[in-house]
Amino acid sequence: MTEQSTISDKLQSLQNNYVQELPSILSNIKDTWSALKHDASDPVKIEALFRLTHNLAGSAGAFGFQEISDKAKEVTEPLRNALGENSSPTATLQLREVGELIQELRSICRKHLHSSTTHISIPKRSSTILKKTIKNEPKNKLIYLVEDDQFQGKQIALQIEKFAYNVRIFEKLSPFLEALEKQLPSAILVDIGIPEGNTGEILSHMHLGLDARTPLIFISNRTDFKARLSAVRGGGRGYFEKPLDINNLLSFIETENTKDLNENYRVMIIDDDKSQAEYHSLILQNEGLETSILTNPEQVLEAMAEFDPEILVLDMYMPGCNGDEIAMVVRQMDKFISIPIIFLSSENQVERQLLAMEKGGDDFLMKPVSPELLLSSVKVRAKRARLLRTHMVKDSLTGLLNHAVAMERFNDAISLRQRNPSPICVAMLDLDFFKKINDNYGHSTGDRVLKSFAGLLKQRLRATDIIGRYGGEEFVIVFPDTSTENSINILNELRRNFEELNFHGEETTFNATFSCGVADMLQFKTAEAMMEAADKALYQAKENGRNNVVKAKS
Ligand code: GH3
Ligand code: MG
Ligand code: MG
Repeated sequence: MTEQSTISDKLQSLQNNYVQELPSILSNIKDTWSALKHDASDPVKIEALFRLTHNLAGSAGAFGFQEISDKAKEVTEPLRNALGENSSPTATLQLREVGELIQELRSICRKHLHSSTTHISIPKRSSTILKKTIKNEPKNKLIYLVEDDQFQGKQIALQIEKFAYNVRIFEKLSPFLEALEKQLPSAILVDIGIPEGNTGEILSHMHLGLDARTPLIFISNRTDFKARLSAVRGGGRGYFEKPLDINNLLSFIETENTKDLNENYRVMIIDDDKSQAEYHSLILQNEGLETSILTNPEQVLEAMAEFDPEILVLDMYMPGCNGDEIAMVVRQMDKFISIPIIFLSSENQVERQLLAMEKGGDDFLMKPVSPELLLSSVKVRAKRARLLRTHMVKDSLTGLLNHAVAMERFNDAISLRQRNPSPICVAMLDLDFFKKINDNYGHSTGDRVLKSFAGLLKQRLRATDIIGRYGGEEFVIVFPDTSTENSINILNELRRNFEELNFHGEETTFNATFSCGVADMLQFKTAEAMMEAADKALYQAKENGRNNVVKAKS
């Protein structure tokens, strides 16, 4: 069974359940109405009936019963008028009008219940196959290099391998094409000057097997337009001049490899009506988004802390607390200040929609919302928010966490371990004689060294390690669940990789090194004490002659 049909099965069963529930929803409306008839000035009763019919308008619309939805919406009008702006009954309730409308609503429902043939449809998943096969599957760390100059090929491979990639060098085209049929690498580098350098030939062979995320990149000594043009015509996605800036090259490859993969946004849907929430959740899940449903809005803070949503989809009218109130509560909290909020409601009065937006909403969608509109609104806003967030937490030069965020994560990791002990280390790193590098080769070359260093850290460390730019040419790394000995081994390996990286100044090639101090939680109990100890150890490493790692002593 395909994923698509599973989801439409689920939707169908949601709809069936809804049809089963309708009679009880109706009898609830009828009972509430009977109670209200006898006490038409009780705002609690008016509000109860308003909620019931308002929810019915939303859910009936979602499940394809447009006529029921429209009539339910009509019932809400006189009730809302009676409730007035601030929920105090200003106008008297038009009892006769409401009574008639409810009669009509019931007969429409009866009619539909006897001929329930409505079918809900969801949009076909866009490019299903592509997304399914590549979702969350990390690319391998293999690069094919087609380079006829043996010496240069080896040099390039050596540099790339420092970043934990494997490089296979091909001096001729045919073995390269054979290898390509066996295994797709994460990138292909081709020297544009290879003697059999018929790029057309390469292209015609490669088109067969390349997927959208395996870039073909040309490398060359030539800097002229013609060379670049021929690379473009040969299907090259990138063009890098020699001597290669390995860091730029690898971050290019990384971006290409992870293209369009990250649309699995975390969406939290808050709606007191479970069937509607599930319906909207299915639509989003069908496109690969991750969802969480909350039917009790009063638990919003706990639920958000647990699920860490990137966007909220909020119903407007809910018991206990309304959607616009939730928006205000969420906006009061610094860490949720930028989370997009989309209201989803059958509220059709523009003034009320605007009012809700003023309270912190970013968008207002009318129920029933078409699956396409829901999807695109959620995706567009989540994507932008994610982008903004990365700019807020990342250092712009290196793309590592900035000082504040790195320290916040470190503190969180330490508090966690004060409750559940497990090893953790922190390392302070500082580039050696960096001032001289700036002085000798210029500030922009210095920047490139910093970026390369950051790139090396990202490539070599685990996703769970916290890597931050502490400031200037100082960096901090937190190794969770790692013994001191292992952390020191990793740092020493980094150190050896880094000292071998070649940087290119105007005329010469140079190397850079770093010194490092490490402290663990066994000896230093708080985050502050660990940082101070790591800093002292770093100072000691500098004293010892630089380019070495020192463990802090208590
Ligand atoms: P030591 O081995 O003792 O650490 O010597 P050092 O020269 O690395 O240390 P010092 O703290 O004296 O100099 C750090 C230099 O780093 C000075 C500063 O201009 C430079 N720097 C800080 N941030 C940046 C940056 O973003 N880009 C560049 N290019 N240089 C930076
Ligand atoms: Mg320094
Ligand atoms: Mg310094």
